[in-house]
Amino acid sequence: MNKKTIVQRFRDWQRDPYPLHEPVTHTCVGCGKTYEGEYCPICGQRYDEGQVDWLALKQDVVSVGGIEEPESPTSFISQMLGRPGYLIEDYIKGRRYVCASPIAMLGVFAGATVIISKFFPTPPSELAQTLAGAEGFIGKIFSWLADNINWAVLIQTALLVLPTMLLFRHSPKMDRHTLPQGLYIQAFMASLVLFCIILRTIISDWVLVFIPIFYYVAYKQLFGYDVWGTIWRTLLCMGVITYFYGLVMMAVLQKEYFDEMPIWVFLGVFATCIAFGAALLFLGWLTGRRSEERRRKRRSKA
Ligand SMILES: [Zn+2]
Repeated sequence: MNKKTIVQRFRDWQRDPYPLHEPVTHTCVGCGKTYEGEYCPICGQRYDEGQVDWLALKQDVVSVGGIEEPESPTSFISQMLGRPGYLIEDYIKGRRYVCASPIAMLGVFAGATVIISKFFPTPPSELAQTLAGAEGFIGKIFSWLADNINWAVLIQTALLVLPTMLLFRHSPKMDRHTLPQGLYIQAFMASLVLFCIILRTIISDWVLVFIPIFYYVAYKQLFGYDVWGTIWRTLLCMGVITYFYGLVMMAVLQKEYFDEMPIWVFLGVFATCIAFGAALLFLGWLTGRRSEERRRKRRSKA
């Protein structure tokens, strides 16, 4: 097989990993109904399933671990690595059979993260240690998050729902996605982030570099902006979250410094900083709306 056909095959797989076949007539072993397709419309049994035998055992094992079965975690993760945005698009637009529920997968990868971290304990980062050392209630939250990376990942990805909805609201491929769709997008991405964290625990810290890259690829395939349009929006999404996160950390860690300030000065500075982040998001949203108008004009001319 030459290079070109391999690339072409990968492209075909990216577009549709589980193409539907022409319907063939079967008689259901479960209930006796004659039907066309792969599953019985009455009882839901698969056409190729009958008495339990060695083949059935093999198929059951494969359906847990095999890439050929859309419901398997292996299929989920290989699609998230190879076609993250297309997979998310398929699923949230209604083609749900292409993978298992991302919420269930999030549970699988969260469980795997906990188990792996028992075998390969990694000390929390310096930043996490500093934060965990902060006084009082907030210090307790941070030290808890440092010990429970699953929840830290969930919270961080959940925070991305809002900036993603704003910055990609007028995207070419997926305009005006809803809040449930936004939550599902981040559920998919959180599974991928947890998978990267598992690899990082086993291999090395540099694996984490892949997280923003995967976000870029997923957002590009899902929303359909060009390279730069995707890069600045993805970076701004993450940047704004990090910025707000940094604001809270600064307020916590530099507490003595702020204690000397009158409370209204402190609140004023804090509100200005928050307004700055919100203004950046607003500008991003406005840019998206402008480019959508331009696209519409171009289309109506053509
Ligand atoms: Zn049946």
